[in-house]
Amino acid sequence: MSVRHFDNIVVGGGVSGLTMTLLLAMSGRRVLLLEKGPRLGGSLARFRKDGVWFETGFHFTGGLHRHGVLDEILTLLGIRDAFAPVFLTDPAENRFYFEAEGRCFEHPVGLAAIRQRFKADFPAEAGAIDAYFDKVRSVCDRTPSLSLRDNTIAPPTLDEDYVSLDAVLKELTADPLLRGLLSGYAMCYGARPDEVSFANHARMACAFYESLAFVRNGGDAFIDAFREKFRGYDIEVRCGTTIAELADLRDHRAGRFLLSDGSEVTTDACILTIHPAEILRLLPEKARSRAFAARVDGFEPAAGFFALFAAIRPGCADPYPQAAITSLFPQADVNRLLDPAHDGEAALVIIKPPVPAGERAGICILEPNFVGQVAPWADSALGRRPEEYRQYKAERVAAISEHIFGTLPAYRDTLEILDAGSMLTFRDYLHNPDGSAYGIRQKLQQFNVIGRLPVHNLFAAGQSALLPGIIGAMMSSLIVGRAVLGKDEYGRFLEGAWR
Ligand SMILES: Cc1cc2nc3c(=O)[nH]c(=O)nc-3n(C[C@H](O)[C@H](O)[C@H](O)COP(=O)(O)OP(=O)(O)OC[C@H]3O[C@@H](n4cnc5c(N)ncnc54)[C@H](O)[C@@H]3O)c2cc1C
Repeated sequence: MSVRHFDNIVVGGGVSGLTMTLLLAMSGRRVLLLEKGPRLGGSLARFRKDGVWFETGFHFTGGLHRHGVLDEILTLLGIRDAFAPVFLTDPAENRFYFEAEGRCFEHPVGLAAIRQRFKADFPAEAGAIDAYFDKVRSVCDRTPSLSLRDNTIAPPTLDEDYVSLDAVLKELTADPLLRGLLSGYAMCYGARPDEVSFANHARMACAFYESLAFVRNGGDAFIDAFREKFRGYDIEVRCGTTIAELADLRDHRAGRFLLSDGSEVTTDACILTIHPAEILRLLPEKARSRAFAARVDGFEPAAGFFALFAAIRPGCADPYPQAAITSLFPQADVNRLLDPAHDGEAALVIIKPPVPAGERAGICILEPNFVGQVAPWADSALGRRPEEYRQYKAERVAAISEHIFGTLPAYRDTLEILDAGSMLTFRDYLHNPDGSAYGIRQKLQQFNVIGRLPVHNLFAAGQSALLPGIIGAMMSSLIVGRAVLGKDEYGRFLEGAWR
């Protein structure tokens, strides 16, 4: 059998792997992209139920405004024109309800406008609100990886990387409701305010404060844009294929890569954009140090979601036409709401993307879901779950529906639930170990697995490597891609891209 050589192999066809593949190919590399599932996209891929389109993972994003971080990433990759963002411009489109307190907060667009609005909402806390937004801005200004025109090497750590969001907020204000409001975007990364660093919270929340947008055709727009761009480069995509074994391990390098389709390939560098536990499983016994294995075993999953997929009943008018993103917080303590041990009423995020006139919008309702809650059925597989699991699902659907109707009563007669899934559903569709929505939990002072691995022609990138969300995942590939290409080659790529 002939053994083919690729300059690079990329493992995982989610947005991290797609970004990595394109970056390397645009730099002149011959790239093989391996995806375990039947199609590309990972959490980006949409699905259709009863004629309604639903997102799997990606729903909305920040940073798509001109020169925003995602706008810059897509421009750098030469695919920005393929996207039609639909920006949320009315503050009522993005609401946080704090149900116990009976308060509802709207989000105007832009750091300055949000700061003003929150100061009007909390007149006695103006100083704390100014200090919070100054700190968020300052962290982002001092994070060079957020500036894509810069060829800076290692992102420096900041003082704010060593202090939790919760600690900063407690120092700024004694008002628990304000702390809840400023922590609300923790739902978009699935870690508690007392365990995430202020710096990482700021890096992720800032993009949402600056602008929020849906994208026409949602996650599929990304997949289509990458596929189209791939055509111009030396890229081979193999779906339903993964690395079965690393062979000829010498001098900390894998000599041959045995693939699950029976073929063998060689490469200068292979970049794994998959979960760290999957990476660990792939490393031959003799290549993993005990310290490395302990580090990976110590990672905890970020929150997953129990999801309801719904739509407005045919013939009914949408009773909340402005509501694009509605977050319900039954109480203001976000630490409790994102605690796997929390057994009170859970938070909900209700997401309704815009659709062309005449189409039914797929409304996605997400409730945090944790490994322990679905542990009794962890050994079951899609389509072969036991009756008790179906009962659990039915109970969650009923409880979540009642929760929604309590705060948004007009949905009682207008909302139709078409489907539901727990984090086990996400686990099995997305081929990750636990169904977490965001990979590993981003905890203070944790050393993520990123960059070169103990087998030196292997590298790690992906949402668990740096930060989750579409931006964090793509950014991880740019940072690790720079290490794979080297400073000079990456510099030439940047020059070419911005020309
Ligand atoms: C319900 C939900 C809601 C979300 N909402 C948003 C949102 O609104 N905005 C936002 O920005 N982000 C959101 N996210 C997070 C975002 O979708 C992810 O952070 C991002 O898409 C992760 O991309 P990735 O490529 O790192 O991982 P993935 O998308 O998980 O891709 C990894 C890929 O690797 C493949 N794979 C796994 N193992 C192997 C193997 N051994 N060999 C080959 N291939 C393998 C998988 O099949 C998968 O295709 C959400 C996620 C979920 C689940």
